Amino acid sequence: MQKDARIYVAGHRGLVGSAIVRRLQAAGHTGLILRTHAELDLTDEAATRAFFEKEQPEYVFLAAAKVGGIVANNSYPAQFIRENLAIQTNVIHSAYLSGVQRLLFLGSSCIYPKLAPQPMRERDLLTGPLEPTNRPYALAKIAGVEMCWSYNRQYGTKYLAAMPTNLYGPGDNYHPTNSHVIPALLRKFHEAKAHGAPQVTVWGTGTPRREFLFSDDMADACVYLMQLPDERYTALLGSDESVTGRFEPPLVNIGVGEDVTIAELAALVAKVVGYAGGIVYDTSKPDGTPRKLMDVGLMKAAGWQARTPLEDGLRVAYAEFAAQNPAG
Ligand code: GDP
Repeated sequence: MQKDARIYVAGHRGLVGSAIVRRLQAAGHTGLILRTHAELDLTDEAATRAFFEKEQPEYVFLAAAKVGGIVANNSYPAQFIRENLAIQTNVIHSAYLSGVQRLLFLGSSCIYPKLAPQPMRERDLLTGPLEPTNRPYALAKIAGVEMCWSYNRQYGTKYLAAMPTNLYGPGDNYHPTNSHVIPALLRKFHEAKAHGAPQVTVWGTGTPRREFLFSDDMADACVYLMQLPDERYTALLGSDESVTGRFEPPLVNIGVGEDVTIAELAALVAKVVGYAGGIVYDTSKPDGTPRKLMDVGLMKAAGWQARTPLEDGLRVAYAEFAAQNPAG
């Protein structure tokens, strides 16, 4: 990517999109194309096509999506499947029509089967039933991977899907019920500390295992992939199964390769926030998938590894949250 390359970051206000923008700006890229949701509704096909025709981006980071934690996914299933299908269909097709060189489609590790062998490899996609709590989101994202694959096969495009494990970092969604576990716990422990509450309630049993990736590390991985020399980038685009007989989707996992239990996470968040009270578990709330750990072998072989230890990343995220919520 030249420093003046025309780069569209879709979803630049989100957790990953904003980190990608910071990363590109720090590297001196001057050709960033950004639109807020109010300026461009990516579920609007005509508007999306017109935008691509006019702006002619060369590279696209597709980080725009409807996202949320367990409760949000359970409460708004129709919106999760419709909006994600619409956004990715419009962006991928418009990218094809306007001749985008490389497109990176982002999703999450919940595209893998609920009981996939751990750690989950890219070729475990479509091998079993999904976790029902986020199936509408996951199916939309799986359709997006298939779209990248199909467009590459039929039109010779170079669209790659990158699926991160659970992400956290500055600019996360800290909504009290609709957020993911890290922002939810940062808020709960912060407020408990501010109010001198004797205990904090954590959902589920505390035993599920999750892997967490700092958003700046995810952005670094995305920019790294976009800049790979052509031969190495193309190698990640998988293969045409009808020719090779191998199931190799254009898909790469982005993770750290290690996980923690929710109970361990809660203890770490308490430490980072400086909360000394107790922790109790509300087992009436869902645990979700028992374990979600990425096999990060492909990314390692491509020469990339996550850098930020969980505690360090939590400190950065908490510093930003505490600055914005001084009274708790
Ligand atoms: P998931 O990774 O798709 O299951 O989504 P979440 O990030 O929402 O939840 C991860 C795990 O953390 C689940 O086992 C939740 O039950 C657990 N958890 C514990 N406390 C909370 C909380 O306050 N909010 C959320 N969202 N999850 C929590």
